[in-house]
Amino acid sequence: MSRPLRARIDLAALRHNYSVVRSLVGHTSVWCVVKANGYGHGLDRVTQALAEVADGFSLLELEGAEALRVAGIRQPLLMMEGFYSEEELPRFARHRLTPVLHSMMQVQGWVNSPLLDGLETPLPVFLKLNTGMNRLGFDRAEFLQALALLQASPRVAGITLMTHFADADESAGIARQMQRFNELRAGAGEGLPVCLANSAALIRFPESRGAMGDWARPGIMLYGASPCPEVCSAEALGLKPVMSLESEIFALRQLQAGDTVGYGSSFVAPGPMRIGIVSGGYGDGYPRHAHTGSPVMVAGRRTRLVGRVSMDKVCVDLSDLPDAGLGSPVTLWGRGAGGHLPVEEVAAAAGSISYELLCALAARVPVMEEG
Ligand SMILES: *Cc1c(COP(=O)(O)O)cnc(C)c1O
Repeated sequence: MSRPLRARIDLAALRHNYSVVRSLVGHTSVWCVVKANGYGHGLDRVTQALAEVADGFSLLELEGAEALRVAGIRQPLLMMEGFYSEEELPRFARHRLTPVLHSMMQVQGWVNSPLLDGLETPLPVFLKLNTGMNRLGFDRAEFLQALALLQASPRVAGITLMTHFADADESAGIARQMQRFNELRAGAGEGLPVCLANSAALIRFPESRGAMGDWARPGIMLYGASPCPEVCSAEALGLKPVMSLESEIFALRQLQAGDTVGYGSSFVAPGPMRIGIVSGGYGDGYPRHAHTGSPVMVAGRRTRLVGRVSMDKVCVDLSDLPDAGLGSPVTLWGRGAGGHLPVEEVAAAAGSISYELLCALAARVPVMEEG
């Protein structure tokens, strides 16, 4: 028999979460964000499951976008970092990809490059404004130049202004960036459609929903995790976990006082206790920084990790679970046979965020699809 570890992907939960997004955004169109292999859930699987309902998909991997076209996805595809070199332009034209243009070099390439001569009909473009993230996007002077070039270009079907919030999930919020956005687009850019909210902005700042945006870009909430678990749990938002990492206890051990567990002997048994050994370690995407005390569900009961996470396994405390034994179901995160454990809680215990855990699911973990 193979290892008992598997990731279950619940596509009905994904569609349910999409309907929660829809109920929040009103008339705003939705780019379902599927970068990073659909946040680890499988690009093809996620887009097929949402193909009937999504207004568009948003990613930044060109190979991924091409795979979606080959798989028959017809919706607009928003390439969130545009193109990295002009060599890619023929592929943007062939697959009709919507670029986010964030630099003058990109705007000039789009408008002038002979590599885009094959474009038969103009494409919509998104123009990214820097409102405080200070990674990508235009400041005022270059924005006006870029806008003028694009508005004069026969290769452009329409321009949407976009920005990305740095603090939508923090107490600082989005007010400062919204003010900056409005200053940047004042005058020349005022009438143009806008694309603003990520999941946290949709959840926490209703003014960034329909009233403020023509397009929203939710990612993490589609996958059933809350972007701001300290403020509002996924469950309270009506979201359902899409990925569950499920395993089993495949070995047992009785410890005596003073016995240590695992690498570094970091856990020392305070007295006699029973532990279970569970398939699943950092080689599977379980975070190595989860330490003794991190939550885990065994046969419907909550218990804790003891000792360090290894490449292939973790150890769990069975002191208060006398009925647990070989083959008992374990939920490392999600909603599985072992119980319900939000991935946000495991991430917090490891000093990380749900995004990182979901994206890091390793290729060796078998995936079971349902719904
Ligand atoms: C990843 C990403 C999103 C989605 O963010 P979530 O927090 O997952 O909703 C939206 N916009 C941009 C530009 C992104 O890179």
